[in-house]
Amino acid sequence: MAETETFAFQAEINQLLSLIINTFYSNKEIFLRELISNASDALDKIRFESLTDKSKLESQPDLFIHIIPDKTNNSLTIIDSGIGMTKADLVNNLGTIARSGTKEFMEALAAGADVSMIGQFGVGFYSAYLVAEKVIVTSKHNDDEQYIWESQAGGSFTVTRDPGESIGRGTKITLYLKEDQLEYLEERRLKDLIKKHSEFISYPISLWIEKTTEKEVSDDEDEEEKKDEEGKVEEVDEEKEKEEKKKKKIKEVSHEWSLVNKQKPIWMRKTEEISKEEYAAFYKSLTNDWEEHLAVKHFSVEGQLEFKAILFVPKRAPFDLFDTRKKPNNIKLYVRRVFIMDNCEELIPEYLGFVKGIVDSEDLPLNISREMLQQNKILKVIRKNLVKKCLDMFFEIAENKEDYNKFYESFSKNLKLGIHEDSQNKTKLAELLRYHSTKSGDELTSLKDYVTRMKEGQSDIYYITGESKKAVENSPFLEKLKKKGYEVLFMVDAIDEYAVGQLKEFEGKKLVSATKEGLKLDESEDEKKRKEELKEKFEGLCKVIKDVLGDKVEKVVVSDRVVDSPCCLVTGEYGWTANMERIMKAQALRDSSMAGYMSSKKTMEINPENPIMDELRKRADADKNDKSVKDLVLLLFETALLTSGFSLDEPNTFGNRIHRMLKLGLSIDEEAGDGDADMPALEEADADAEGSKMEEVD
Ligand code: ADP
Ligand code: MG
Repeated sequence: MAETETFAFQAEINQLLSLIINTFYSNKEIFLRELISNASDALDKIRFESLTDKSKLESQPDLFIHIIPDKTNNSLTIIDSGIGMTKADLVNNLGTIARSGTKEFMEALAAGADVSMIGQFGVGFYSAYLVAEKVIVTSKHNDDEQYIWESQAGGSFTVTRDPGESIGRGTKITLYLKEDQLEYLEERRLKDLIKKHSEFISYPISLWIEKTTEKEVSDDEDEEEKKDEEGKVEEVDEEKEKEEKKKKKIKEVSHEWSLVNKQKPIWMRKTEEISKEEYAAFYKSLTNDWEEHLAVKHFSVEGQLEFKAILFVPKRAPFDLFDTRKKPNNIKLYVRRVFIMDNCEELIPEYLGFVKGIVDSEDLPLNISREMLQQNKILKVIRKNLVKKCLDMFFEIAENKEDYNKFYESFSKNLKLGIHEDSQNKTKLAELLRYHSTKSGDELTSLKDYVTRMKEGQSDIYYITGESKKAVENSPFLEKLKKKGYEVLFMVDAIDEYAVGQLKEFEGKKLVSATKEGLKLDESEDEKKRKEELKEKFEGLCKVIKDVLGDKVEKVVVSDRVVDSPCCLVTGEYGWTANMERIMKAQALRDSSMAGYMSSKKTMEINPENPIMDELRKRADADKNDKSVKDLVLLLFETALLTSGFSLDEPNTFGNRIHRMLKLGLSIDEEAGDGDADMPALEEADADAEGSKMEEVD
């Protein structure tokens, strides 16, 4: 007797099973789609392996999916002649190895998601327990013996070697249906379900159906049958025979396979003849998505190279869009109708990883290996075409504002990544970008629209980067730009920093950061003259400030961009912005030398029109070594760090400085207070001496 081993379900899977079993879901029917999709995946795998090694099919040459309802045992069996599972596969794939989507799916369910979303989270198999109280999986892989997996959930499953009849190769899943789920034994229900959810599976799906035929038979025939069945002729009473000489009807029950799906690939059909619903059904079967696609592009390329393709944009991003552990499953590659692989990385660049679809090439060899794909010229051409068609599709989406908002919310990061990675298409991609701006209100604006609104004499496109719209919209950096009526784009996505660094210009207009050096605004002669005068007037103060701040700043200059605030800190044109510094710090930069090299060299820009600065100037001019000046400069510097989007290295020192200001403001005597000894050295300033002076500043 074969030994039975018992395994515990991995904790999260166990939780998921309880949830599936104990929660009421109305949409239980999706279990069939999930199991058929797994069967189809398994068939894809063996077909792909057989392309390079024909002998792999010997154990079972036919590729099929069979579905058998059994009303006697209240069971539904799904058989596929796919790749099968070894013992280890059964143990790992059906219960012990955690799947990244398990927890996410449970969270999604808790948040009101529909159970039909299960496939997207990579745990579709467990949907069997929506309708079954017990599941038995018998599987045979070419590399192992036949094994049986069995579980009634409840924390554990068993795996046993199967000494019984061999299934050749593949997997047989038998669901023992719950009492209230017997509808899944009805032929009509099953046929409709397969049509609805699995019509585009590219392997024949056959349903084992019962046929009852009513047949009129004469007694002679009847006798013949009796003969066949029992192998002997019954002795017939002469009298009786006469009575029954009339013809009579009998019911004949037989079983046969009935093919349920069409299998003709949708991409081989003419676009005009395919309805939106058909595309949607195909999209859903391709992706496990529960919602329809947002956009579709179905096309064929002919000439030197021939292929057909259907590309889809989903309505929203999957939960793990940027999860690098997960292998993307985006474009399926077919060669002359034969499925080759799920995830052909060579077919589409990473940033378009959210686009789903299929490509069917007439030119590639059938036995193509992954290694060959890498240098394949045909694939390179296909890829170029796909990218172009994707962009066309995005522009088509952009024609409808509502759709585009949806699209942009989900995939703007991908477009920005594209600008960074795909230099050939960055100009086109830039046209797809949308930003909030100082003039856009609640709407988003494109760069194109920005350009049409540019003021006379404005030659650059201005933008500011930061953590959020809130954080940048009142930034001191924007003061002068706003005053002049120049629009400023808010780039508040971490990836904007990278994208804009790559983009550099749009329609010949330079993209200029409002927070970096090199912001030059057009000025009238009067303005220029006045600026020169102010520069001269504040030269002394600039020098004093630089002396106080030392290495903290690169230089101190009179500002062009602040109107209200006393000062701000700008960064070098080619170095990191404050925002970028924040992003890099958050990424825990492995190479800290890079940080030193790139991190912002700050320039302090002071606002000569600001009364605080003017007062400082007076004091500094009167006495270069005025201690109050020193203390105030430090406070101004730290405040400017914050308003300019940097972080404070020593927030406590800053806090203490503010507290001291508060005490002064409230006329609390330093000496009388406690904790004097703890006061931070205000750059060796004498607290008493400057106290009174600070009050004057207010
Ligand atoms: P997913 O299909 O997203 O991987 P599932 O929960 O549906 O997640 O299936 C889990 C795994 O179990 C599959 O990845 C596969 O390795 C294995 N599996 C399930 N059904 C079959 C089958 N019919 N034949 C072979 N392997 C299967
Ligand atoms: Mg699955």
